[in-house]
Amino acid sequence: MGKILGLKCRECGKAYPAEPLHVCEFCFGPLEVDYDYEAIASRVSRETISQGPKSLWRYIDFLPVEKEATVGIHGGFTPMIRAHRLGQVLGLDNLYLKNDTVNHPTLSFKDRVVAVALTRAKEFGFDTVACASTGNLANSVSAHAAQAGLKCFVFIPSDLESAKVLGNLIYHPTVVAVEGTYDDVNRLCSEIAGEYRWAFVNINIRPYYAEGSKTLAYETAEQLGWRAPDQVVVPIASGSLLTKIWKGLKEFERVGLIHGVRTKVNGAQAAGCSPVATAFAEGRDFIKPVKPKTLAKSLAIGNPADGVYALQTARETQGLIEMVTDDEIVAGIHLLAQTEGVFAETAGGVTIAVLKKLVARGAIPREDVTVAYITGNGLKTQEAVAGSLGEAVYIEPSLEKFQRRFKLK
Ligand SMILES: *Cc1c(COP(=O)(O)O)cnc(C)c1O
Ligand SMILES: [Zn+2]
Repeated sequence: MGKILGLKCRECGKAYPAEPLHVCEFCFGPLEVDYDYEAIASRVSRETISQGPKSLWRYIDFLPVEKEATVGIHGGFTPMIRAHRLGQVLGLDNLYLKNDTVNHPTLSFKDRVVAVALTRAKEFGFDTVACASTGNLANSVSAHAAQAGLKCFVFIPSDLESAKVLGNLIYHPTVVAVEGTYDDVNRLCSEIAGEYRWAFVNINIRPYYAEGSKTLAYETAEQLGWRAPDQVVVPIASGSLLTKIWKGLKEFERVGLIHGVRTKVNGAQAAGCSPVATAFAEGRDFIKPVKPKTLAKSLAIGNPADGVYALQTARETQGLIEMVTDDEIVAGIHLLAQTEGVFAETAGGVTIAVLKKLVARGAIPREDVTVAYITGNGLKTQEAVAGSLGEAVYIEPSLEKFQRRFKLK
């Protein structure tokens, strides 16, 4: 097919072959997949994409796999919701929610990156896959490895929500709960990755894995009628998703599928883990690692690998990066559920709360076409809202009791 030219260092530009590599041996910069965009442009059109499968693989020409999809073939192509009621509350006339709470099969946007990572890992001939995860990635790697018949190790911080631990165990991988933060888990995994020939999706396979996030941008543009939004609000953990949404929009423009991309890319973090938002607020161009302490565990990365690039992207696009407290996160989850019938996990609460802040401050004008990325499902983080819910009304099974209880005739 020949669309993949190889890997390229993001910092010094040195070229590498398209192999399981992730850091530049000269400058330690991260490697990124380099494509032949002329070849891609000559092959794709709005029509060919529209006729493709109803999954993220309709954009296969922009993804770093050589042959067809073999793992995660039903991922992506999630609903784009026109959010009238939430828009009305916030003061937006053109608000959309990209709803990855219903991604197949593990209900988060990680099903996109894992579909791409494991399809590529199989092309490389790996028989064992692994990851360091804040929760959702482990769920997705476990499920996809089961489906693909690959051996699987997932590494998680030991304090994860119970549904996210169960959401690994049910697929029968080896689950390693590490006493420490995600950053401790990740450091350990980098060492393990050096010892064994495993496909660590977010370590040695990271350049391929990360590209899966671009499909959120492609779907956004297609579902809006082949145009880029004016504003996006994206949650930040490692910062990869945010940078790849911008990359995806620019690629669509580059090959002529959309025109005049002027999207402001806004980032969202929890105040209890805000290394990128803090660097943004302080006007720094480097990240100071932090020790996370927040309800939003899926975003709790204190030393984000792509934090600097997320900063650059927000600045380059005239977007903002904001942070919100745990109380605001819970309120955001409630507001989204109450107005749009979407139950998001804590990361979704971060996104909605930051969206609210940006609108209130005048950074997102009423008429702007705005897309908020809702990246994970609330059923996995029930602990976060358990203390803030109403109660069921208990009654005996009698019409009279019902009417009396609610003062109905
Ligand atoms: C992993 C994750 C993110 C952010 O991912 P990065 O690419 O690491 O910034 C956002 N939302 C949810 C629910 C996630 O699991
Ligand atoms: Zn380099």
